[in-house]
Amino acid sequence: MSNDALAALNWLVEAGADEAVADAPINRLAPISRPAAAPARNVPPSPAAGPVPLSGDASDLALGAAAAATTLAELRAALESFGGIGLRHTATNLVFADGVAAGGVMLIGEAPGRDEDRVGRPFVGRAGQLLDRMLASIGLDRQRNAYITNVINWRPPNNRAPSPEEAALCLPFLRRHIELAEPRLIILLGAVAARHLVGGTDGIMKLRGRWLEYRAGETMVPLMPTLHPAYLLRQPAHKKLAWRDLQAVAARMKLLGLPVERPVEGTGRTG
Ligand code: URA
Repeated sequence: MSNDALAALNWLVEAGADEAVADAPINRLAPISRPAAAPARNVPPSPAAGPVPLSGDASDLALGAAAAATTLAELRAALESFGGIGLRHTATNLVFADGVAAGGVMLIGEAPGRDEDRVGRPFVGRAGQLLDRMLASIGLDRQRNAYITNVINWRPPNNRAPSPEEAALCLPFLRRHIELAEPRLIILLGAVAARHLVGGTDGIMKLRGRWLEYRAGETMVPLMPTLHPAYLLRQPAHKKLAWRDLQAVAARMKLLGLPVERPVEGTGRTG
């Protein structure tokens, strides 16, 4: 490798690039091609029937594919065959969800990172380990009574923030995901989830710790925004805030009669 190429590679590594994702360069600034918008009734075939075609208006396709799913398995298949988002080409795996939807508590994070992309499950890296300890402190366990997903279902390259367009394409799937999972209580993890599901201009520091409601079809679901575990790893002094939010969640779970695993000793204060 020439010195210039080596210097360029070093520069990329220092800038945070941690992975080569393709042999040839990809112009990510090029607009997504949007030929004549498909009529709204032109819903793509059932996800189980085959891949969603690449042509057509990507957001119409996302809406149609999400609406056509009638089970979580169909929704996952719809995402697997959804061709309208560039992220799927740079990601290794779709990251759909982990846990037990029937437990009644649904957690929504931002987007998969490198570890999640590798194994295809949300929150499996360091932030995920902290999240598991936080959940255990209030009797939640993804193997038994907690269900976890993200706003974005594929890893953005180099963990960059998802663009508004990417979030807009994933949102119809997330909204359908919530309808199909039928949670009794939702916990939003961090600013991105709060921005997309609560809306408005308030930041996560203002929103956290206050009960809101999310409309899923005909049902209003109590929703608690709290701090993202990756943020808590960087700002451990704020764990006490997340701890307070989780105590409010534990009290609400009790009121709703939701199943609780015996909280694991030594997980207090989300440490
Ligand atoms: N951060 C997230 O928001 N989601 C994950 O799945 C992992 C880290």
